[in-house]
Amino acid sequence: MTEDLLSDASTARDGGVGSRDAVPPAASPAAPSAASARRPGFPSSPEARAFRRRVFPEATAAEWSDWRWQLRARIRSLDGLERVFRLSGDERAAVARHKGGLPVGITPYYASLMGADDPAEPLRRTHIPVGQEYLRLPGESDDPLGEDPASAVPGLVHRYPDRALFLATGTCSTYCRYCTRSRMVGQTGGEQQISARHWERAFAYIEATPQIRDVLVSGGDPLTLSDDKLDYLLGRLRAIPHVEFIRIGTKVPLVLPMRITRALTRMLRKHHPLWMSVHCTHPAELTPEATEALTRLADAGLPLGAQTVLLKGINDNVETLRTLYRELLRRRVRPYYLLQCDPITGSGQFRTPVETGLDLIDGLRGHLTGYAVPQFIIDAPGGGGKVALVPDHVEGRDGDDLLLRNFEGRIYRYPDPGGRIGTGKPHS
Ligand code: SF4
Repeated sequence: MTEDLLSDASTARDGGVGSRDAVPPAASPAAPSAASARRPGFPSSPEARAFRRRVFPEATAAEWSDWRWQLRARIRSLDGLERVFRLSGDERAAVARHKGGLPVGITPYYASLMGADDPAEPLRRTHIPVGQEYLRLPGESDDPLGEDPASAVPGLVHRYPDRALFLATGTCSTYCRYCTRSRMVGQTGGEQQISARHWERAFAYIEATPQIRDVLVSGGDPLTLSDDKLDYLLGRLRAIPHVEFIRIGTKVPLVLPMRITRALTRMLRKHHPLWMSVHCTHPAELTPEATEALTRLADAGLPLGAQTVLLKGINDNVETLRTLYRELLRRRVRPYYLLQCDPITGSGQFRTPVETGLDLIDGLRGHLTGYAVPQFIIDAPGGGGKVALVPDHVEGRDGDDLLLRNFEGRIYRYPDPGGRIGTGKPHS
């Protein structure tokens, strides 16, 4: 599937929402104003408008707010990056030597959120390559989750009995340097590139496999497809009687929020019950534009969940995650998974020790409503599937009492006569 197939009938117009300065990551989100709610186009903040005038002076306000323009104008080369960023020597060398899959790709909107002068700024670190990306550490591989061997047909991973992963496209609006599917996304015409023929084979497989009740549509990012193609895909899946649950996995609401047009949400509503998993990294992504996109999706009746990859030096501290999860919940997005970074080739720069994730979950629980605390997950390499890790709060046992440690570190007793937990004996 190529970007040539992208088309959307909606026409975006510039509008206005609250200043990003008024919405620092740790502060309150700006609810879309009543005026912006009435406007048919997509609003943009004063910061975005200033960035456009400074870096993309040739772009009109209407173009900036048009998701197709944002895709066409993506920053994809050294020259393009140098137009926005003061690159470090490491970044410049890493971009210059890059070949093959997982290209550089950043929408102008998302670039406007990044630190132009600071290579350590979190969003920039996730999207501009550095030399460590070329280091393969022990245990790393190009397909650590074994998705290719678990593919029933090309582009359809069938690992769990009742679920299937439908890789709808190899295209994303931005390319994350830690992407689990870096082996296949962003390639033009590569072996893994996904075509309409792949879709038809995937539909036929799902139709013939009644135990599949849950389909996750992912990629690549399915929201880079045109409304018509996505409508067709969802319609075909919805027409399969045994498919009860359809989810879309996407990062678009945060990196290309103007894609969430009224036409798109009208189309998505036709396919309910439809859920969406939004890939979120850092509170800096929760701008007024992202708030508008998430509000439109929630208002269209899509239950929204958030998936976050735990990334070293980017979001691996409790203050950042508390802010992220609290602010997501305010925008009606339920934190769902905190994912240990998969050991893809070159990911050593991003991976934390596993105990960091457990400590972070410990630091969230008791300080945030349970709705804001995600599950901490390792996707077991080699195709083992998702394994949830939980901090251990069992201190031991005293006779018939189970000793529990609460979020403040205090010990409490629970009467549990005959129980084996805390004795060291197997209990399952
Ligand atoms: S948006 Fe998702 S599929 Fe695309 S590069 Fe990022 S992690 Fe990978």
